[in-house]
Amino acid sequence: MKFLSEPERIFSLIFTFVLFLSFTVQEISAMQSTDQQKKKIGYETTPLLPNSKWHVHDGNRPQPPVVTPGTCSTQKKPGTPPSDAIILFNGKDLSKWTGKGGKANWKVENGYMEVVKKTGDIETKEHFGDCQLHVEWAEPTVIEGDSQDRGNSGVFLMGHYEVQVLDCYNNKTYPDGQTGAIYGQAPPLVNACRPPGEWQTYDIIFTAPVFERKKLVKPAYITVIHNGVVIHNHKKIIGFTEHKKVGKYSPHPAKGPLKLQDHGNPVRYRNIWIRPLKNYDE
Ligand code: MG
Repeated sequence: MKFLSEPERIFSLIFTFVLFLSFTVQEISAMQSTDQQKKKIGYETTPLLPNSKWHVHDGNRPQPPVVTPGTCSTQKKPGTPPSDAIILFNGKDLSKWTGKGGKANWKVENGYMEVVKKTGDIETKEHFGDCQLHVEWAEPTVIEGDSQDRGNSGVFLMGHYEVQVLDCYNNKTYPDGQTGAIYGQAPPLVNACRPPGEWQTYDIIFTAPVFERKKLVKPAYITVIHNGVVIHNHKKIIGFTEHKKVGKYSPHPAKGPLKLQDHGNPVRYRNIWIRPLKNYDE
């Protein structure tokens, strides 16, 4: 049997002590975490919230799902979407889109898609209802036409409700048809346009209309943020967005496609993502 030298003995003692300490710390922290799990959070004796099964500060209420936020875009580079977003266009292909003759025929290059005149509108294969939508777009740098003929396109929620895309940087048109207008219904609160060629953003929160037995029971509402500026604040939509007439509702399914308009101008789009919105506690 080998006897340990003095330094070896000291080292072995220190090593055993450190090992013991580490086990103890782990045990304490495990006990603490079990305690935390057992510990009740919130209250059950507080009043019930109106029209709800949950009490004020109810700890049993479901914890909201965790979402990792994305990053902001710059002129040079699109940002990243939140972790739970459905990416509709990431600059590479139109596989999520369809169009005339069952195919989306717009041009895709250098990380963006571009309207190709007369190829028709394109729309998503997947359909959506209530949602948060992020769209980036850029107006042609070659300035042609004026009023409605300058860089016209459009973002149609559910295929029927258009948020106008137009170059209104130093370009006047009828206000309910300008950039960011709910077409034919409401002008934007302000004109937040960037110059042609610069990437612009729409962040849209949309509440779908509700029909029961083919009758409208709840209209659609929309909030639109253009380049970080609020241009519609929970605005009621009065019906389909129409040209030269007052829009009316016509019953449609609870979900519809996101449509982008071919109005004959080479408008570009990039970084399009959507988050279908659920109700609270779902
Ligand atoms: Mg349009």
